[in-house]
Amino acid sequence: MKDCIFCKIVRNEIPSYTVYEDDIVKAFLDISQGTPGHTLVIPKKHIANIFEYDEELASEVFARIPKIARAVKASNPDIKGMNILNNNGQVAYQSVFHSHFHLVPRYTSNDDFKMIFKDNSNKYSPEQLKAIQESIEQHMGD
Ligand code: AMP
Ligand code: ZN
Repeated sequence: MKDCIFCKIVRNEIPSYTVYEDDIVKAFLDISQGTPGHTLVIPKKHIANIFEYDEELASEVFARIPKIARAVKASNPDIKGMNILNNNGQVAYQSVFHSHFHLVPRYTSNDDFKMIFKDNSNKYSPEQLKAIQESIEQHMGD
């Protein structure tokens, strides 16, 4: 993809702080550094989001994430944990439409990164949950 910023990073047409690469993935520091060490892992092949992975590429990319995560964690003794995030679609805060996984090292529970999982369990009846479950199940072969 000619104009994709992450494809340009893959081709070294724009600089990056690359921490790992092989024939399948490239991992480099996210320019925003949400917390120190914030790293992106991307497939070298251009795909927009999670919905475009086939099983082979998914297994190749996901297989590499734990070792990259371990290296990021080992890089700084103050890293106590890590959030791994993947935004898909503008509504889900995706801003670069070349699939990527955020590795966000966590130092304390009140460092510069926040995620809110609201508990909405009281808003759904068992019947509604059953309908949602069945609808997802029915599309599993799509
Ligand atoms: P997302 O919002 O999930 O699509 O994340 C895109 C991420 O790409 C953001 O966290 C940006 O800070 C990061 N980003 C954009 N341009 C660059 C770049 N040239 N080098 C490194 N990270 C970048
Ligand atoms: Zn791309």
